[in-house]
Amino acid sequence: MVRVGGEVLECELRGALRGRAGGSVVVAGDEVWVTATGPRKGAIEAVRPRRTKLARLAPPPGGPGDRDAPAREKVLAANVDRLLVVVAARDPEYKLGFIDRLLVAAAKGGLEPVVVWNKVDLAESDRDLRARLESDAALYRGLGVPALLVSARRGDGIEALRAALDGRIAVLAGPSGAGKSSLANALQPGLKLRTGEVSASTRKGRHVTTRVSLLPLDSGGYLVDTPGVRAFGFYDVSPDELSSFFPEFARHAVRCRFPDCKHGVEPACAVRAAVESGGGGGGGGGGVDRRRYESYRRILESLAEA
Ligand code: GDP
Ligand code: ZN
Repeated sequence: MVRVGGEVLECELRGALRGRAGGSVVVAGDEVWVTATGPRKGAIEAVRPRRTKLARLAPPPGGPGDRDAPAREKVLAANVDRLLVVVAARDPEYKLGFIDRLLVAAAKGGLEPVVVWNKVDLAESDRDLRARLESDAALYRGLGVPALLVSARRGDGIEALRAALDGRIAVLAGPSGAGKSSLANALQPGLKLRTGEVSASTRKGRHVTTRVSLLPLDSGGYLVDTPGVRAFGFYDVSPDELSSFFPEFARHAVRCRFPDCKHGVEPACAVRAAVESGGGGGGGGGGVDRRRYESYRRILESLAEA
């Protein structure tokens, strides 16, 4: 569906676009050119170049075992300003590696990330968990990434989250069960009722929504809901560029012995040395935190396998 001015048109893809199928030709947030083809009907003629995009490797059509299928890109949302990485303090347990993967996707696609730990109410009586949450949140804040501890159920941190959205277009991504729908409803009570029927035009072009929806917030801005994302593979991130998405590595990387060091098992790697000598703890002090380095190594290995 495409919103054109105040009207919503049921649209189909023009033939040339249909030929380029694969699921990512037109996605939520895209700006498109349409021509009217009938009452409340139109055809999408062209899609504008995307300002930003959140993309991942598409799951192979034949399931996880289908190793022969060519890699395809799955774009989850276009022209979105913010990525809200939503994980739960517990139930389900969160993994920093997952957060770091989404931060790479955000940097690659031009989105500003915010990390959100929901369900902090479940951590209240667990001192160890609370300490870990604070420490992990501090790690990202040290990297300049806003990190919020919230509870959709109790309302903690919802105002701060609304402020972080700041009237822009944001996409929620995280494993199912983390509380994305609950957070969307905490931000905008009654939002669910409008899910799936509204798309919007905020700029000159036209916006279109397909399976994911663009949900308007009274406080300004929009939320884009995505289906739960558990494993997050990359479509077009190369091993060479991966470290550029870990900006705290840069000041050390200049001292690696090899100019093309990938900070894996190479000898005299200054990034690895920075991890070993400590001084991480958030990255603000100029060190490299072991948690981030381990994420990096795991992603690097997964890129090498692909
Ligand atoms: P989604 O799959 O990410 O959209 O997650 P949902 O919003 O459907 O939430 C999954 C489950 O977690 C539901 O049973 C919610 O009631 C519960 N839940 C959501 N937010 C909170 C919270 O802040 N605290 C607690 N204790 N449970 C929550
Ligand atoms: Zn190195």
